[in-house]
Amino acid sequence: MLDLIRVVLVSTSHPGNVGGVARAMKNMGLRDLVLVSPACDIDETAEARASGADDVLKNVKIVASMEEAVADCAVVIGASARNRHIPWPLMTPRQSAAKAIEATSHQNPVALVFGRESTGLTNEELTRCNAHLHIPSNPEYSSLNLVAAVQVVAYEMRLAALELSSNGLNVDGQGDFDVSTAENSHQRWGVPWDQSLASQEELEGFFEHLEETLVNIDFMDPKNPKHLMPRLRRVFLRSALDKTEVNIFRGILKMVNKAHP
Ligand code: SAH
Repeated sequence: MLDLIRVVLVSTSHPGNVGGVARAMKNMGLRDLVLVSPACDIDETAEARASGADDVLKNVKIVASMEEAVADCAVVIGASARNRHIPWPLMTPRQSAAKAIEATSHQNPVALVFGRESTGLTNEELTRCNAHLHIPSNPEYSSLNLVAAVQVVAYEMRLAALELSSNGLNVDGQGDFDVSTAENSHQRWGVPWDQSLASQEELEGFFEHLEETLVNIDFMDPKNPKHLMPRLRRVFLRSALDKTEVNIFRGILKMVNKAHP
């Protein structure tokens, strides 16, 4: 369960925050940390702040894009203190934890994405997420320090996992959680689902195919795309498509393109 929860930090600029996040994660039983183009080195300050969580720091993965960081994930949750022009499904840390822990039953990682200390996540980055996690802080002073934000969210992940562990599951164990054991708790649809959720990579392939098709049939003007793609992404991202459903949609797009050569 918790071993499938990944923390993704986008362009973090303070090494102390990277170390602090490693410690916050390890305290709560998380260990999968990915940095997207960090704006700092993992130096002695990072190591000092990690204080005993140097194993998490040592195993950190560094990638060039958010896309790469979440490619294999079934669910992506973006943490942001700010509201957006096109609102994204908004969740508290508790609601996010229920969704995240439930999604780990599909054996795919779940990503929790945190933004830059200075400017947070961009709109484009948030449209890559299934949901917008907001810690309901003081509206007049809403932005938490990055480490504090990760701590709050990681704690909720652990609580949600412990709730399930009353069914005899080991929250810190390796992949011992399957759909059938989740039957009575966090099943999103009330039944064990018959298909695995699509990965973000599969969804991105579908979104590209959809965009190409919309341009091809003259529904979307690439010079004036308005907010069509973000709005369509929001439809599909909130419906939790499984692998078969993505294949069906791609089959339909293929036929549409065939009819509009
Ligand atoms: N000034 C930035 C905030 C940066 S805080 C902004 O305007 O967006 C660094 C990161 O911590 C944020 O990108 C977000 O991932 C997380 N964070 C801080 N406060 C948060 C809150 N109230 N809710 C959710 N995430 C928060």
